[in-house]
Amino acid sequence: MQSFTYWNTTRIHFGKGQIARISEEVPPGARVLIAYGGGSVLKNGVMDQVRAALAGRTVFEFGGIEANPHFETLVKVADLARTEKVDFLLAVGGGSVADGTKFVAAAALFEGDPWDILLERGTNVQAALPVGCVMTLPATGSEMNRNAVITRASTQDKLPMNSVHVMPRFSVLDPETTYSLPPRQTANGVVDSFMHVLEQYLTYPVGAKVQDRFAEGLLLTILEDGPVALREPTNYAVRANLMWASTMALNDLLSRGVPGDWATHRIGHELTGLYGLDHAATLAVVLPSLLKVKRAQKREKLLQYAERVFGITAGSEDERIDAAIERTRAFFEAMGVKTRLADYGLDARIIPEVANKLRQHWQVPLGEHRDVTPEVASNILELAL
Ligand code: NAP
Ligand code: FE
Repeated sequence: MQSFTYWNTTRIHFGKGQIARISEEVPPGARVLIAYGGGSVLKNGVMDQVRAALAGRTVFEFGGIEANPHFETLVKVADLARTEKVDFLLAVGGGSVADGTKFVAAAALFEGDPWDILLERGTNVQAALPVGCVMTLPATGSEMNRNAVITRASTQDKLPMNSVHVMPRFSVLDPETTYSLPPRQTANGVVDSFMHVLEQYLTYPVGAKVQDRFAEGLLLTILEDGPVALREPTNYAVRANLMWASTMALNDLLSRGVPGDWATHRIGHELTGLYGLDHAATLAVVLPSLLKVKRAQKREKLLQYAERVFGITAGSEDERIDAAIERTRAFFEAMGVKTRLADYGLDARIIPEVANKLRQHWQVPLGEHRDVTPEVASNILELAL
């Protein structure tokens, strides 16, 4: 196991009715800016609960943060926060709203061009406004981590940032808020959280038994309850399991002491930036092919994954690995998330465009072995056609 430091400062309020706890978290005299997306939280009653919990504070609202939040929009929100001397930001929505609000928190206090925050991946962030979050889509883990992924629509650049300063002070996770998710977004969340675990689990084996078994517990939970959520959208136990699994999948617990891959995510971000695919769709497309290309380096871990997650014990090592990759693909497809570029109307012409963006965005090759060059990424995309 590698050496590590672990801490997580986000307070979680989990369960039915917990939105009311916001009143304990946000100071009574605060000037609060609520950020939300395209309006789902206005329809499903979440915003009414948030407004009630904030009674007595000076509240501003900004609606219209896009899925894959746009830098151009967020700069306007940061301006509003400065003009109105806002001292608390509350994200109410899915990962895009949470990520967007975290970026606004940093941008509002940043001297200079806020795009530099993304160019430096957040390492140049010195301070941020405090952020709270009401998460309505279990997927990203953004509610309990330091990451945000922002898209500059005008140049089709989708870049991640990472800063301790934007970590939410608190997050509310009420599984009932997820009952209104359309099947496509439930499925996206299941695929994204499953992938977050795999990015940290399917790496070169380092004998980290605790991290491995935490990861396997999350994978088994998501495999079991993901399909049930599609059939029974108001099943509280299932929604609760998926919600906590997605938070635990990407709150820095699994990543401590083990290498992370993240090549699937990085390649996926380019596909979203350029062609607008849902984040989860890009992951479902890239992963099966990436595993084929990286099977030698990931061999031992793929065999462990086959046995412990899918119960595959028969056949040669190569057959077991192939079966595990196909079971993973079948799971994504069963959730309704297609796994081929052609399913999204994309063909081989996109490959050089994606490779160019990767060259532009990443100085060093991707993956836990730093061997996924733009050329390797092109091979992966060839296999994903
Ligand atoms: P999202 O983009 O936040 O939301 C997708 C759609 O779901 C929106 O149309 C939204 O509608 C709707 N929605 C959300 N909650 C709903 C509810 N309870 N009922 C009905 N509709 C609801 O999706 P996401 O998958 O959570 O976030 C994706 C973004 O996160 C991507 O940009 C991805 O790259 C990023 N990401 C971040 C991290 C991280 O660590 N920070 C990790 C992985 C991915 P409204 O707009 O109307 O609310
Ligand atoms: Fe993700």
